[in-house]
Amino acid sequence: MTSLAIGVDLGGTNLRAAVVDTSSGTVLASVRADTPIHQGPPAIIDLIVELVQKVMTESGVTSVSLSAAGIGMPGLVDVERGMVILLPNIPGDWSQIPLGQILNQRLGLSVRLINDARAITLAEWTNGAGQGTDSMACYAIGTGIGGGVVVGGRLHLGSGVAAGELGHQIVELNGLRCNCGGRGCLEMYASGPAIAARGVQAVIQRQSMSIAVLAENDLNRVTASTVFQAAREGDPCARAILEEVGTYIGIAVSNTIHTLNPQRVVFGGGVMAAGELLMAPIRRTVREHVFLVPVQRVELVMAQLGDNAGLIGAAAWAQSKAGPVKAA
Ligand SMILES: [Zn+2]
Repeated sequence: MTSLAIGVDLGGTNLRAAVVDTSSGTVLASVRADTPIHQGPPAIIDLIVELVQKVMTESGVTSVSLSAAGIGMPGLVDVERGMVILLPNIPGDWSQIPLGQILNQRLGLSVRLINDARAITLAEWTNGAGQGTDSMACYAIGTGIGGGVVVGGRLHLGSGVAAGELGHQIVELNGLRCNCGGRGCLEMYASGPAIAARGVQAVIQRQSMSIAVLAENDLNRVTASTVFQAAREGDPCARAILEEVGTYIGIAVSNTIHTLNPQRVVFGGGVMAAGELLMAPIRRTVREHVFLVPVQRVELVMAQLGDNAGLIGAAAWAQSKAGPVKAA
């Protein structure tokens, strides 16, 4: 079977499609467009089809030379039926749309859906920072916090395909209300918007001159990156914010380690651009809280595939599920 497959990454901001060589985890060609987030599901489906056809044309591959197409979705999906269960950040009623079937027909390819963070996990495991392990957990920390787990040498989806929702581990009793409906989830304390909100609070309370100066005294310009930059410049308040964020992540990782005893925990996503400013408190917290598992043998490492992980993982997922290539 050919090792070429299509990977699609549907995000709240960008929609990307790529031709991926799944044997090496290489993106051979990719295209991107803004996600028409407020135009409803049909416009988004049309754009997925358009981008897949465009990247096939540009790279000169035909559907005959492709094994399958995988669609990474920012929510919960029924991987067997190709249906969306919950897509919290993309408006519209997706629950009745047989998305996999529609794309299958329109693209003439075997199409499989997968949660975007599970796709990242699969990619990092097969071709990135998780290579060579048979058990790992992956945290994808950005606008939200996604995750995935590999157990016993395979991506573990659980009985309801939601295994690996590491961002919704509860780290604070009676904590902040989360988009998932729960309270005190890690996502509310360690995502990009959560870090930005802490930066805004620091400016309002006049605790950080550096963040205020970097954002030119405009609260709308305070992002997680502003807090990272202030911390790198030595601002004590920004450093304290990241210390606390890293501690929250470390608590969640300690729980993950107790649950899975993985060989490796991989950290990716835009927030991890903070690097050691977060990795140091994560490691410290894990050392302080994990005793029953030999923690020195659990490797905590940065992801390797960057923005392409979702594309590579979606393609790899589709290929792993695809049967023999059928004529379109
Ligand atoms: Zn939650």
